[in-house]
Amino acid sequence: MANLNNGPVCINHHNRPAVAHCASCRRPICEECLVEQDGFKCCSKECLQQALASTAISNDILSHRGRANAKAKFAGFIKWIVILAVLAGLWFSGLGKKGWNWVVEKFNSGKAVVEEKAKEGVLKDKARRDGKRKQIDDFSDPSK
Ligand SMILES: [Zn+2]
Ligand SMILES: [Zn+2]
Repeated sequence: MANLNNGPVCINHHNRPAVAHCASCRRPICEECLVEQDGFKCCSKECLQQALASTAISNDILSHRGRANAKAKFAGFIKWIVILAVLAGLWFSGLGKKGWNWVVEKFNSGKAVVEEKAKEGVLKDKARRDGKRKQIDDFSDPSK
């Protein structure tokens, strides 16, 4: 038997060594006073009910949180899978290369258009200057 002068004794029986601490109120209890259920060791039925109720609530919160986290993680995972699948699909179907060719083509034609416009602009400018000069020449020409 345990040394009664050492260690905790039962809250109800001061001559008996405690075998456990109440899961609810943490008071020491002897084997006879022990109320046990679902792994909870309590000093009384009231304490046991309290312990069961509080763990039921925290378990509920934990499982709820866990489910929410798993859902968010799963959604993020799916999003990446979809993005990768789309990219891979584009690449393997040749659209990636086609798309790139399209971009290059557009860029080159765009450049050509810009060059064309620039040339046109220069020509127009030249024509305008020539016209002006002609006007000035006409104006300054006394024979006209
Ligand atoms: Zn208790
Ligand atoms: Zn006791």
